[in-house]
Amino acid sequence: MPEGDTIFRTARSMGRALIGRPITGFRSNYPLLTRFHDDTPITGQIVDRVESRGKWLLIHLSGGATLATHMLMNGSWHLYRIGERWQKPSRDMRIVLENREYQAVAFTVPVARIYSAQALARETRIPPAGADVLNADFDPLTAAARLRACASEEVGDVLLHQEVLAGVGNVFKSEVCFVESVNPFCLVSALNDEQVAALIRTSQRLVAANVLEDSADAIVTYRGQQRRTTHRSDPSESLWVYGRSGEPCRRCGNAVRHRLQGPDARVTFWCQTCQPMPDRSEIDG
Ligand SMILES: [Zn+2]
Repeated sequence: MPEGDTIFRTARSMGRALIGRPITGFRSNYPLLTRFHDDTPITGQIVDRVESRGKWLLIHLSGGATLATHMLMNGSWHLYRIGERWQKPSRDMRIVLENREYQAVAFTVPVARIYSAQALARETRIPPAGADVLNADFDPLTAAARLRACASEEVGDVLLHQEVLAGVGNVFKSEVCFVESVNPFCLVSALNDEQVAALIRTSQRLVAANVLEDSADAIVTYRGQQRRTTHRSDPSESLWVYGRSGEPCRRCGNAVRHRLQGPDARVTFWCQTCQPMPDRSEIDG
């Protein structure tokens, strides 16, 4: 499943190919999008900005509207030079947006909507820019307040709330908790202020480290998920705990564990030795 880093990279690549250029072609098999296009042609508009907000990708158009897509589990945007052969079957195509040089193609993207500026501001499903750990407007202090407000929920669950901290997905959730030695099943109310601040700082740092420029990114083509690294660049040692159930903890050597967590039953990995549940007396005292 794409996490915030994947969407951020997609937005960056798409921005390089699309921003400032007139759109020369648009098509979609979503009736709401084509109806909008019939009334207010997208062709001829300029792409002003492409941004990621959590798992949403937003394409802002010069006419004031924004095309928002959410990849859910299987959707993806690909970027091709005009005339280049697609890497997925055309039956999976949902949206095509092109200029003279590039073609951005959304494949099996399950959620696509067009918003006016006012409707976008009202849309509570899309996190605000300030909630996204990769956004320049991200504010750690208000993020701490939002996290604290979920006092009676488990930390591992709250880290996935996009309106609290957009951009952190299931892989980063486990990794962030491990790095900060916080048990993902402990309640937010059990954390002290320093732990809350550290969880936010580390979320931002780990996700940001995965969107650094690299050669693959410099080419404006984007075709899929990249590997995530929170530990070492060696692929066999890239992560601390995620996906490593039963393997030795990289700090203490005891077996990494996993368990399903939260209403959506997302898998969480942790080390019981390095991330013990907090002592009640410490919390109460
Ligand atoms: Zn350990």
